[in-house]
Amino acid sequence: MKKFDVVIVGGGPIGIACGLEAKKKGLSYLIIEKGPIVNSLFHYPSNMQFFSSSEKLEIDEIPFISKEPKPKRDEALEYYRRIVTSNHLNIHLFEKVQSVIKSDSTFEITTNKKSYTATNVVIATGFYDLPNTLNIPGEDLEKVKHYYDNPHYYAQQKVAVIGASNSAIDAALECYRKGAEVTLIIRGSEVGQRVKYWVRPDIINRIEEGSIKVFYNATLKEIKHTELVIDTPEGVTTIENDFVLALTGYKPNFEFLEQLGVSLSNDEKRLPNYDQETMETNVPNLFLAGVICGGMETHKWFIENSRIHAKMIMDTILKK
Ligand SMILES: Cc1cc2nc3c(=O)[nH]c(=O)nc-3n(C[C@H](O)[C@H](O)[C@H](O)COP(=O)(O)OP(=O)(O)OC[C@H]3O[C@@H](n4cnc5c(N)ncnc54)[C@H](O)[C@@H]3O)c2cc1C
Repeated sequence: MKKFDVVIVGGGPIGIACGLEAKKKGLSYLIIEKGPIVNSLFHYPSNMQFFSSSEKLEIDEIPFISKEPKPKRDEALEYYRRIVTSNHLNIHLFEKVQSVIKSDSTFEITTNKKSYTATNVVIATGFYDLPNTLNIPGEDLEKVKHYYDNPHYYAQQKVAVIGASNSAIDAALECYRKGAEVTLIIRGSEVGQRVKYWVRPDIINRIEEGSIKVFYNATLKEIKHTELVIDTPEGVTTIENDFVLALTGYKPNFEFLEQLGVSLSNDEKRLPNYDQETMETNVPNLFLAGVICGGMETHKWFIENSRIHAKMIMDTILKK
């Protein structure tokens, strides 16, 4: 069996950047992705617009041309797919890594299809696979969604959107504009401060004019087939409901990291242990790249600021 210099787990923007950098440096490499190319982006809402401008999403300075300064999801799919195909990157798609085991100086990477060996492994698995759940009765009902795609589905329906960040606010506005009756349920006292600067005034105006209802400082207590029970500062209230969009964020697969021997901080942030100069974890020759580095602080890393991980890692591997 051929031993790779580096196997990269995850074919998101940062995994692809790592593959490209490995190729440029003459390292033998393989990217293993459990879905299609940039699987997370493929599952983003179909009308989603990035908060970053296109040049900040570029990898290896390959120009990203978009119609507007901030690209849409489809343009990003096109961009990253073209990078993979035109650079003939060595990527295996629809192949899920199940375990990574190190013995002496060799990693054995086992997928649902095959096994591989490598001297170095990069984990670039992001955080989009595991939603933060509400852990309340009724969450397992089919009408509860942790991923939002297209507003057409919700026309003429009573939709409760849980959350106050970009995903929740985008979904609330889109559904309202396609004729849904939208209620926002927000744990804090305001719409998130990190909501895109051109979207925040829109949602605030819709709330103030009464087009979108909101409960601030409120928690969803129970989801029933046709109703929701909400704890509000004025007391417990019940509203009619057809669908719940629980857009309360996502988290990295900590279990996977722990299985690999990566230690995590003991606080609620669960920050993985890695060297900030080299991206190498406490397991020698095992590296982290991309948004997985932030632990529960999923707002800390994005494509914009984590695309540099690729060069840092491949420089380190080459030096070794
Ligand atoms: C709605 C939304 C909007 C965003 N907008 C922006 C923005 O405007 N600008 C910005 O810079 N960032 C943005 N981000 C943040 C960031 O860009 C994304 O999270 C980005 O996808 C991170 O890239 P990544 O390669 O680190 O992880 P991901 O893109 O999540 O890639 C991880 C990949 O690993 C794969 N994978 C996971 N487990 C396995 C396994 N066991 N085996 C094989 N493959 C596996 C997944 O399928 C996935 O394709 C946004 C995030 C979200 C959710």
